[in-house]
Amino acid sequence: MQIELITNSSTETIELGEKLAKVLPNGLTLLLTGDLGAGKTTLVRGIASGLNIKGVVQSPTFNIMKIYLKGDRPLIHIDAYRLADINTDIGLDEYIGYETGLTVIEWPMFIEKLIPEYKIEVQITNLGEDKRKFVFIGDEKLLKDVK
Ligand code: ADP
Ligand code: MG
Repeated sequence: MQIELITNSSTETIELGEKLAKVLPNGLTLLLTGDLGAGKTTLVRGIASGLNIKGVVQSPTFNIMKIYLKGDRPLIHIDAYRLADINTDIGLDEYIGYETGLTVIEWPMFIEKLIPEYKIEVQITNLGEDKRKFVFIGDEKLLKDVK
C-alpha cells in the first residue's frame, strides 16, 4: 500500500513526524530516502518531538547512530551515509528494530543487508521551495493510521 502526503513548510513536516510518533508501533523501522536537504532529519525531529524527547536532533552523519532514551519510548536514529563502501560489521543490527521503540534510518540503501521486514519506507522528494512530497510504502495495517 502507498500513501502520498505533501507538506508546505518544515513546521508541517515536524507535525507529520509528531503524528507518526503517536501512531507507529514499537519495533517498527522507518526507512527515509531522499536527496540531501529533502527533509529526512526534519521528519526525525518531529518524531522525537512527538515522543517528548527534549533537545535537538541533529543529523547523526558523523556519529552514524544516536539513541534517545529519555522520551516516551526509545528512538534509534541511524544515518548510514558514511557506511557506503564500508564492509565491516559494526553491530548496528542489534539496535535496528529495537522492540520497545522506533528505529529511523536515513540512507538505508547503504546498509541493505540490515533492513528488517517490519518496516515502512518513506520516499521524500523536494518539490521546490518549502514543498516536500512524502510517499509512505508499507503494509496496509501499518499505514492505516498514517493518513
Ligand atoms: P535531509 O536530512 O534530508 O538532508 P534536512 O531535514 O536536514 O534534510 O534538511 C531539510 C531542509 O529543508 C531544512 O533546511 C528545512 O528547513 C528545509 N525545508 C523547507 N521546507 C521543508 C519541508 N516542507 N519539510 C522539511 N524540510 C523543509
Ligand atoms: Mg539528514
